[in-house]
Amino acid sequence: MTTSSCTSVAVIGAGPAGLTAAEHLAAAGARVDLYDRMPSVARKFLMAGRGGLNLTHSEPFERFVARYGKRAAQVRPALEAFPPEALRQWADGLGAETFVGSSGRVFPKAMKASPLLRAWLKRLEGLGVRIHLRHDWTGWTDNALAFETPDGPIEARPDVTILALGGASWPRLGSTGGWADLLAGRGVEIAPLRPANAGFQVDWSPHFVERFAGQPLKTIALTFGGRTVRGEIMLTRYGVEGGAIYALSSALRDAIARDGHADLGVDLKPDMTAGQLASKLGRASAKDSLSNRLRKALGLPPPAIGLVHETHATDVKAVTIRLAAMQGLDRAISSAGGIRFEALADGFELKALPGVFAVGEMLDWEAPTGGYLLQACFATAVGAADFIVRERMSRA
Ligand SMILES: Cc1cc2nc3c(=O)[nH]c(=O)nc-3n(C[C@H](O)[C@H](O)[C@H](O)COP(=O)(O)OP(=O)(O)OC[C@H]3O[C@@H](n4cnc5c(N)ncnc54)[C@H](O)[C@@H]3O)c2cc1C
Repeated sequence: MTTSSCTSVAVIGAGPAGLTAAEHLAAAGARVDLYDRMPSVARKFLMAGRGGLNLTHSEPFERFVARYGKRAAQVRPALEAFPPEALRQWADGLGAETFVGSSGRVFPKAMKASPLLRAWLKRLEGLGVRIHLRHDWTGWTDNALAFETPDGPIEARPDVTILALGGASWPRLGSTGGWADLLAGRGVEIAPLRPANAGFQVDWSPHFVERFAGQPLKTIALTFGGRTVRGEIMLTRYGVEGGAIYALSSALRDAIARDGHADLGVDLKPDMTAGQLASKLGRASAKDSLSNRLRKALGLPPPAIGLVHETHATDVKAVTIRLAAMQGLDRAISSAGGIRFEALADGFELKALPGVFAVGEMLDWEAPTGGYLLQACFATAVGAADFIVRERMSRA
C-alpha cells in the first residue's frame, strides 16, 4: 500500500490539536494548509506554559481514562492509540524532554511551552505545512471554506477539512466557541459550552476578603457528591479556585445549575482522626481563645482559622463552604460541552458533514487539570489524522 501525495487538507485552528493533526498528515504526504484567526499560533498552549505546561499524567492508564468521567468510553480509543507515553516520546523527540513531578503530572523540563512550540513549528515547516495567520474561518460558501483575511475574503476547496477550533474559555486567546452556532446550523449536535476547571463564587464577608484573599489552604480534603479530593485551594476575592476545586468542578457546576448553590465539605485536617483532634484540643488551655487553640493544638494556619470563623464551623473536619455560582468562561481553564460524540462517525468525522473532522477541546468531553486536557487534544487529533491517512489517502 502506498500513500497518495496529492490529498489536500485544511486544518483550521492552530492550537495543539490542529498542529498535531497537521504534523501527522503532512508526515504521511498530505498537502496541509493550517489556518488560524490570530496573528500567531497556539496562544492558549503558550498560556498553559505559564503554569509549567502540564502535558500529561503518569498514573496507571485505567485511572487516567477514568478522569474523563461520562465520556471516558468515547475518549478511550484515542487515548489507547496515542497514550501518555507516546506524548512524552513525541515531546522528547522535539528536544523538550519531560519529567514526572511529585504529583505524577508530566512537564517538559523547561517548564514552559515556547521552546517546544518553536521546535514544533520548525518541524512543520520542514514537512511543508503552510500556515495562514489572520484567517478567520466563517463557514462555507458554495461548499468552499470561507475565510476573512486582512486582504479580504478568500475561499479554499481542500479534499478534507479538520476543525480544531478549541473550546470557549479565555476567548481573547482565539477560541471563542463561535463555531457552535455555525455547526448547529449545519445539523451538527452540540452540547452547550460551559465553563470547566474554573473557580466558584462565595459570599465572603468583607473582613475575610481583606485578610485572606490570595492565600492558599494547603493539605486539605474537599468532599462533594460522595467524592473526596485531597489537595490545595486558593482563597480569592470572589470565592475559591485551584486544583482540588477543579477536580470536583463538573459535579459542583451541575449541582448549582440544579439547586442554585452547592455546599462544599472541607476537612482542614484530613490526616488526623476526629479522636486525635479531640484529644489534642482537650489538652489545650481552656483560657485560650478558639483561634489560639486551633493554632497551638492543631497547628492550623491563619487562613484555615479564618475559614472556621467565617463559616461558623464547629468541627475542623466538617467545614462547609456554600458556593453560589461558577466563574464564567472568560477565565475558565477549559470548557465543557461541544460537538456531541453521537454526531461523530469513525475518525471524528462529522456525520452531518462528510469530509469534515473535528478534534481537540471542541468535542464534548471534559476532564480536570493534571495534563488530561492536552492529552485528549493530542490524542483525538492523532486519531483523526491516522484515520484520514488510512481511509482517505491509501491507494491499493
Ligand atoms: C490558563 C490556562 C492554562 C492551561 N494549562 C493547561 C495545562 O497545564 N495542561 C493541560 O492539559 N491543559 C491546560 N490548559 C488547557 C489547554 O490549553 C487546552 O485544552 C488546549 O489548548 C485546547 O487545544 P485545542 O487545540 O483544542 O484548542 P485551542 O488551543 O483553543 O486552539 C484553537 C485555535 O483555533 C483558532 N480558532 C478558533 N476559531 C477560529 C476561526 N473561526 N477561524 C480560525 N481560527 C480559529 C484559535 O485562534 C486557536 O488558535 C490550560 C488552559 C488555560 C486557559
